[in-house]
Amino acid sequence: MTTSFQEVVEQLRALHDLDASIQRLEREIRRGPARLAGLEDQIREIEKKKKLVDDRVLLLRAQIRLRENELRTTELKIERVKTQASQVKTNKEFVAYRAELSNFQGDADRLQGEVLKILDVVEQAEKKVADLDEECVRIQKKIDDAHKVLDDSLQDVKKQRDGLLAERPALREGIPKEPLAIYERIHAGRGDAMALLDGEYCSACMERLTRNDVYAVQNRNRLVQCRGCNRILIANV
Ligand SMILES: [Zn+2]
Repeated sequence: MTTSFQEVVEQLRALHDLDASIQRLEREIRRGPARLAGLEDQIREIEKKKKLVDDRVLLLRAQIRLRENELRTTELKIERVKTQASQVKTNKEFVAYRAELSNFQGDADRLQGEVLKILDVVEQAEKKVADLDEECVRIQKKIDDAHKVLDDSLQDVKKQRDGLLAERPALREGIPKEPLAIYERIHAGRGDAMALLDGEYCSACMERLTRNDVYAVQNRNRLVQCRGCNRILIANV
C-alpha cells in the first residue's frame, strides 16, 4: 500500500512539473503584447502634444484672420481719404487729410507686421507638428517590427505549449481516479496544485500542519492536502 502511494506521488509530481512548464509558457504568451505597451504610450503622448500644437495653430490662424479683416477695413479707409484728399481746396484741409492718411497707413503697417509675425509662429508650429508626425511614424514602425518578432517568437512558445499539452493525457493515465480528481480540481482552481512542505508549514500559504500530516507527507503514505490552501503537499525529496 505504502509503495503504491509513493508511486502515485511520483505520478502526480510528474504531472505537476508538466503543468508548471505549461503555465510558464502561458504566462509568456500573455505577457508578450504587454511589452509593446511602452511604445504605444509614447505614441499617445506625441498625439497629445500634436493636439496642443494644432489647437495653437488654429488660434493663431484666427488671430491672423482678425487682423486681415481689420487691415481690409483700414485699406478702404485709406482709399476713401485718398479720394477725399484729391478734392481738397485749402492747404489746411490737405494737411488734415495727410495726417489722417498717415495714421491709417501706420495702422496698416502695424497690422501687416503683426500678421507676418504670427505667420512665423504658425510656420514654426507646423514644423513642430511635422516633426511629431515623423516621430510617430518612426515609433509605429518600431511597434510593427516588434509585433512581427513577437508573433514569430510567440508562435514558437505556443508550439512548445501545445507540445506539452499533448503530453498531458499520457501522464494522467495510470494515476488513480481519486487523487487525480483532487489534483485536477485544485489545478483548475489555483493553477498550482501542489506545494512543498517547509518544515511543518505549507510553503504556498504558510499554514502549519499537524504532526500526523507532516509525518504522512514525509513518508508518502497518504495524500495530504493543506488545510489553508487545499494544495497537495509533498516533501522535497
Ligand atoms: Zn497551503
